[in-house]
Amino acid sequence: MRNLLLTSAKRIVVKIGSSLVASRKLGLRIDQLERLSKEIAELKAGNREVVIVSSGAIVAGIEKLGLKTYPQSLPLKQAAAAAGQSHLIHAYEKCFKENGQKVAQVLLTHQDLADRKRFLNARYTLTTLMQLGVIPVINENDTVSVEEIRFGDNDALAGQVAHLVDADLLVILSDVDGLFTEDPRQNSSAKLIPEVQDITPEIEQRAGLSRTQDSTGGMATKIQAAKQVAEFGVPTLIINGETPGLLSGILAGTGAGTLFHPQSRRLPSRKHWIAYTLRPKGHLLLDDGAVEALMFRGKSLLPSGILEVKGDFLPGDPVACTDLQGKEFAKGLVNYSSHTLLKIKGQKTSDIKRVLGSHEYEEVIHRDNLALL
Ligand code: GLU
Repeated sequence: MRNLLLTSAKRIVVKIGSSLVASRKLGLRIDQLERLSKEIAELKAGNREVVIVSSGAIVAGIEKLGLKTYPQSLPLKQAAAAAGQSHLIHAYEKCFKENGQKVAQVLLTHQDLADRKRFLNARYTLTTLMQLGVIPVINENDTVSVEEIRFGDNDALAGQVAHLVDADLLVILSDVDGLFTEDPRQNSSAKLIPEVQDITPEIEQRAGLSRTQDSTGGMATKIQAAKQVAEFGVPTLIINGETPGLLSGILAGTGAGTLFHPQSRRLPSRKHWIAYTLRPKGHLLLDDGAVEALMFRGKSLLPSGILEVKGDFLPGDPVACTDLQGKEFAKGLVNYSSHTLLKIKGQKTSDIKRVLGSHEYEEVIHRDNLALL
């Protein structure tokens, strides 16, 4: 099964972290970029489509601008990213050209994907590039991404991209060999976990918060990305990006790294987008009856089951649904604003007209616009 998931993957998203392609002192690691380009060209020659999500702009920018330390303020990070990104993409162009491949730069912000129209537009552009045989090289558009609208880290971006392009496999190149029973840098008896069927809270805890100097995420963000794409039926392979041959080895299947299996029940794309791309603008606290109706009976959310409304949102905005234990168990697009919901929460559907003077929708969230988490 493991090898089949790898060898049958036709469309592969490869996430390349900063430390693999750039160093603060020496700038771009051209030797690594040459090797990775060669391996990715081999994947393409093996009839695979490849999308790259590459970090490294900030680190490359630090060297280019001669900054002494890693920038702390957002404007300085953004300036370094802008200076470094052109450097980075130029290196990708050159290395891939030597291997007979063309690349295209695509810079995305979270907002681009949170708007369904722009999401679909980005999807068409990326699939067109792939049809033309071009390798998209994606990064976050750091220059215009302020804290609230950032993807946060490129592991999260890679997860979003895997969904965006409907990938068959997400490969995350790490600076360690995969997920270990403990942090291998701190404990030499730590053992590699070759396969993960289900990302349980224990696995998430195991991933901890280990991080290296120049990476934003560490293992925890990789596991979160794997968890999200698993819900979309996509497996994730975490391998050591410094080890030659592992990436191109996917063509024949590989025993290296950690493979996270996909969930058998795949969320449809639009529901996955509601659940994992959109960020909630508010929260609805529901009573047990409503939780049960949504979770187990495939029902829409009616005003009667709502106990509390938090946040400030408009019709069409995403909101999260929480049960009495405080667990966020669903996300959906609301038909009513927070202002209106405060008036009709707890009311019977038949009373909406009396309270509001009109009755546009029976449901607060229609089940077609609701994704269970
Ligand atoms: N977009 C950032 C860069 O290119 C990296 C963010 C990350 O690695 O998570 O430097």
